Amino acid sequence: MTAEHYGAGQGRRERIAANLAALRKRIDAACSTAGRGPEEVTVVAVTKTFPASDVRILAESGITDVGENRDQEAAPKAAECADLGLRWHFVGQLQTRKAGSVARYADVVHSLDRTRLVSSLGKRARGEGRRVGCLVQVDLDPEARPGALGPRGGADPRDVPAVADAVAAEEGLSLDGVMAVAPREGDPAEAFARLEAVAAGVRDRYPRARIVSAGMSGDLEAAVGHGATHLRVGTALLDDRGTNVG
Ligand SMILES: *Cc1c(COP(=O)(O)O)cnc(C)c1O
Repeated sequence: MTAEHYGAGQGRRERIAANLAALRKRIDAACSTAGRGPEEVTVVAVTKTFPASDVRILAESGITDVGENRDQEAAPKAAECADLGLRWHFVGQLQTRKAGSVARYADVVHSLDRTRLVSSLGKRARGEGRRVGCLVQVDLDPEARPGALGPRGGADPRDVPAVADAVAAEEGLSLDGVMAVAPREGDPAEAFARLEAVAAGVRDRYPRARIVSAGMSGDLEAAVGHGATHLRVGTALLDDRGTNVG
């Protein structure tokens, strides 16, 4: 990484503005194909590995939602950017021992995939006097063995109703919807169609759980085609993270 890459200089600002314009075009086209309005889709800018100065540029460019996947990185960045009024999404795997820290800054946690996690996060949210939005993360490929990059997380679709019930019953948390990462192999559209069905099942019982967090830089068109309301976009906005991907 060069100094310029991490700088908040004019070059970086222009680069991010160009990326954002290209991203909006892709989303507009995907929405038009799907017969949806672009206002139905929120971009969560995933800023992991990128500095707080980039978060600031994104906020000035109209981004309202940012995502992080590691608490060690997210906590100080959120504190540094507290003046920006952004919504912070925690999109990484959540560990019970990190629940206390995450409950302090996260507005939405995308990765609830087991009931034990629900009670620790709920307890910490109540302790902070906060209400944390929660998405049940769905494993769209539950038969797959964890790959070289480790498990992607998520509840088996059969276990999603139980996790959803636990979140809905937990004071301090609100059940806002579902999230998934497309499996590394196979057609993302087919995977997102399965997520769409799981999301509909959750909404049948909890009509306010309307968020479908699906789609990243490489597969956002497929996600928009299957009802995604939130796209988690990193590289398409901020360029390559290099090899130190969290
Ligand atoms: C990093 C990350 C993203 C963003 O991925 P890009 O391919 O860079 O857009 C989305 N979701 C999760 C859970 C991530 O960890």
